[in-house]
Amino acid sequence: MSREFSALRRVVVKIGSNLLSDRSGVNVERIRQVVGDLVTLHDRGLQVTLVTSGAIGLGAKELGRTSAVKQTALRQACAAIGQPVLMSHYRAAFTEHGKICAQVLITRGELNERRTFVNLKNSVSSLFELGVIPIFNENDVVSTAEIGTAVGDNDRLSAFVASKIDADLLILLTDIDGLYTGDPKRDPHAKLLTDITKVDDQVLAYAGSAGSMFSTGGMKTKLLAAKIAANGGCATVITSGYEANALVRICDGEPLGTYVHPHKRMHQRA
Ligand code: GLU
Repeated sequence: MSREFSALRRVVVKIGSNLLSDRSGVNVERIRQVVGDLVTLHDRGLQVTLVTSGAIGLGAKELGRTSAVKQTALRQACAAIGQPVLMSHYRAAFTEHGKICAQVLITRGELNERRTFVNLKNSVSSLFELGVIPIFNENDVVSTAEIGTAVGDNDRLSAFVASKIDADLLILLTDIDGLYTGDPKRDPHAKLLTDITKVDDQVLAYAGSAGSMFSTGGMKTKLLAAKIAANGGCATVITSGYEANALVRICDGEPLGTYVHPHKRMHQRA
């Protein structure tokens, strides 16, 4: 079954911490590339949204930490420090193209509660109407997985956002070019799965197989995210963020990465 992207209207892109950071802090070049692609899509009339990680890692780097930050309170502090640093890089990159971006910090609560969700949806619609690119992250300062108020990983957060804002396509950028049947570095027979109609136990088992967990969130959370998106009527592509112009090429229909089909949309969009 082929990918049918000719009628794309709303696209959500998620980028993880490992793609965004290098030894000095932020990988500015990567931000520039992703933003360049988002701008191309935006100029074509698509409504694009970014979900970005990296706040905690950047905050830790600001504090001069060299090892992983595990303590919850310190992670929250790092998120508070790192989030404006992260946004300053996106703002600089979008400004180069004459575009405006906006920060949207959310938690599981806002997505789940009807009142706040409707409010959020209205804000995002206004941003789209204004031609602004919303950039989401979890509000890690007030919400943590430990107290059960956070989604906890941006793979699933991006899928919730995609289904709640009725996106057509979710693109998860990672450090491997999709889901393999085994570890491509060790198993010469490992095959890239390019087309998945249903995220079932068999598919999830591939993600659990040794060596396929190269990315930060792991392939499993990406598949769980794709499942959430599919249930919301949104297609997902999991692909490598190292691939040049991956976002534009995917939207042009190039069969990059692993494609997860949406389930039939249950409602008609406004
Ligand atoms: N919200 C976290 C951050 O910005 C990232 C969560 C994730 O990597 O999935 O640092």
